[in-house]
Amino acid sequence: MQMNKLIVVYGTKPQEMVRPALDRLRVKESLSPTARIGIKPNLVVEKPSSSGATTSPELVEAIIVYLQEVGCRDISILESSAIGHSTQRAFKACGYEALAARYGVKLLDLKHDEVQTVRARELDVRVAAKALGFDYFINVPVLKAHCQTQVTCALKNLKGCLPDDEKRRFHRLGLHRPIALLNMVVRSSLVVVDAFCGDLTFEEGGNPVQMNRIFVTYDPVLADAYAAELLGYEPRSIAYIRLAEELGVGSADLTRAEIIELNVGERHLASPPVSPLALELGRWVEERAACSICYGNLLHALARLKENGSLAALPGKIKIGQGFRGEVGSGVGVGSCTAGLKHNLPGCPPRTREVALFLESLTRIRSEKRSKT
Ligand code: SF4
Repeated sequence: MQMNKLIVVYGTKPQEMVRPALDRLRVKESLSPTARIGIKPNLVVEKPSSSGATTSPELVEAIIVYLQEVGCRDISILESSAIGHSTQRAFKACGYEALAARYGVKLLDLKHDEVQTVRARELDVRVAAKALGFDYFINVPVLKAHCQTQVTCALKNLKGCLPDDEKRRFHRLGLHRPIALLNMVVRSSLVVVDAFCGDLTFEEGGNPVQMNRIFVTYDPVLADAYAAELLGYEPRSIAYIRLAEELGVGSADLTRAEIIELNVGERHLASPPVSPLALELGRWVEERAACSICYGNLLHALARLKENGSLAALPGKIKIGQGFRGEVGSGVGVGSCTAGLKHNLPGCPPRTREVALFLESLTRIRSEKRSKT
């Protein structure tokens, strides 16, 4: 099992994306037909996956099809939705009730499950007992920004294995260390990240941005490190990622990871932004036939600039897209298509973290010029 491998598949059709990713990781070899398998999506609220808040049921369906082809029959989907939200309603609203009926898999509402206390270093963690009873645990989070922890992906998704009072206690304890410790108690066997439609700011969705990819790995820390970078953060600046690595849950070292990208040609054109924040950020962009991946990365980078207060210091609109190919002139461009512009960040597509650093450097140059005059 290659823990340092991470497979990224671009596209919009989970049924065509899951199999090649799992085959590359040789998942079949680690599965036994008699294994009790738990699939943990993120169904934090009763909103469809198009909101950016919850895991795509089509992605989970593709995983179930793969498992059933291997002969696995004992499959459960488990969740305890956010405090104040009903898991049962989330199962229905997010399309999981119909999915479970179609494939004969169980739906487990962990909110009202028995609780088991498990020691993780200095903390007694109270976990829903059923979450501990699987031979193979597939963590299927959504890649999202988060107002408190900056990023939410695989490590934090396991908070949905806790009863509500334990979720509250995690917040009182500062979230980061308890999340890292929880991942010592509930071990992810495999992580399949839904990055079709990530959210720019909130766990509850509302600012979805097309990202059109999934990524798959055995290591939940590596998954979150990659996710953090996609959203424009230095992975170890997110405390729970750093802590989980220190606790031996996995590795956040992307330089040592073997990252394999599949379907790189699957770059659909970006759709116009729809959410209020995406619209606001989109005013800083001049877009001509940009690929959705490139455009999504730029919006996430702009969201980071907004967070640190440097958005207003941008020198003007950022140009992006294939329509700028061959154009020469002044201005700022992101991506290889805008290589002819005076200020350009190459890459096809450039990564969010690189875009954020590039734009921040432009805002610094502009502030320095202003202070001299
Ligand atoms: S730089 Fe690459 S990813 Fe970005 S718009 Fe051009 S072709 Fe698409």
